[in-house]
Amino acid sequence: MRASSVVQAILEVLEEEDTHLTSREIYGRIHARLPAVNPSTVYRALERLSQEGVVSISDMGLGAMVYELLSAKNHHHLICQQCHHVLTLEGGETNELFSKLEASTGYRLMTNHLVLFGICPHCQEEPPEV
Ligand SMILES: [Zn+2]
Ligand SMILES: [Zn+2]
Repeated sequence: MRASSVVQAILEVLEEEDTHLTSREIYGRIHARLPAVNPSTVYRALERLSQEGVVSISDMGLGAMVYELLSAKNHHHLICQQCHHVLTLEGGETNELFSKLEASTGYRLMTNHLVLFGICPHCQEEPPEV
């Protein structure tokens, strides 16, 4: 099993699904196409792709890290801790925040997939049943 074909398969899966997947979910989909591949090969390929900035790796509170193909446009998320609703932020608001942070700290920010946790407006209105 050549590593490059695994990488190719990962990129195809992420492109088709166009959402966040755990390494286990990605492995499951790849296994159907490349039965000889093992989970550690998929995991290592994902690590390399995230280091190269091709995919993002994030903790979205799901108990496992999730991977997503990074498009030309960065996006970020607000996630409700109660109902797990995911709001996607594109461009505007976060670019401004990042620029301000870079200006005030001197850092060049490399985070390309920011995940912020909170309580959504709906859940704030309806307290959870205890
Ligand atoms: Zn995302
Ligand atoms: Zn909620």
